[in-house]
Amino acid sequence: PRMIIAVDGPSGSGKSSVCRAAATHLGAGYLDTGAMYRAATWYCLDQQIDLDDEEAVAVAVEELPMNISTDPDHQVICVGSQDVTDAIREPRISEKVSEVATNRRARSLLVAAQRRIIDEAGFIVAEGRDITTVVAPDAQVRVLLTASAEARLRRRGAQLGGTQDAEALKKQVLERDKKDSAASNFTEAADGVAVLDSSDLTFQETVDSLIGRVQI
Ligand code: C5P
Repeated sequence: PRMIIAVDGPSGSGKSSVCRAAATHLGAGYLDTGAMYRAATWYCLDQQIDLDDEEAVAVAVEELPMNISTDPDHQVICVGSQDVTDAIREPRISEKVSEVATNRRARSLLVAAQRRIIDEAGFIVAEGRDITTVVAPDAQVRVLLTASAEARLRRRGAQLGGTQDAEALKKQVLERDKKDSAASNFTEAADGVAVLDSSDLTFQETVDSLIGRVQI
């Protein structure tokens, strides 16, 4: 079937794991647009581009030789011949990604690339910050996945193995929220976008709720 499931939400909302599990269950593709912003950031740092130089960042993203898999069970992202799947999760990328994500030309290039990937897949769960509003506002299913700050911190802490200092972690998560919401307001659902609050749901309940909205 031709069907697009668009999911937005802040970091730590459980978006990626929920969307991957839903895609696997549905037999759909999966697109992690955050990974594309991360790979663009990885490339800019690799090329030693000054992130304050808007023109240089835009040019770098224009020539970015990026390849991302849409298999929910096998996520790989490459820049040129380099597999950067793990490298894009490093803190040095998380700290800088907002700088690339707020570059208007870089955004429009990445949005165009995302639309091509979604188009080609036809049946796909795409997640990010602006999928329901900008990338695929015509998606059949549009969901804003939210979770309270407490729930997101709890999950992020567990994800990092619970080794991080709680205060430092809280600062990090809230700091990135702030940087992100300056660029795009994903905390409020746009018209026609359903809010799925996962704060009091288990992982499986959240996945089921998303799958339940898909009428194939
Ligand atoms: O989802 P993830 O946390 O990996 O995304 C990394 C960053 O990429 C976000 O913090 C945000 O700055 C940016 N992003 C974006 N638009 C998207 C997806 C991610 O600006 N659709």
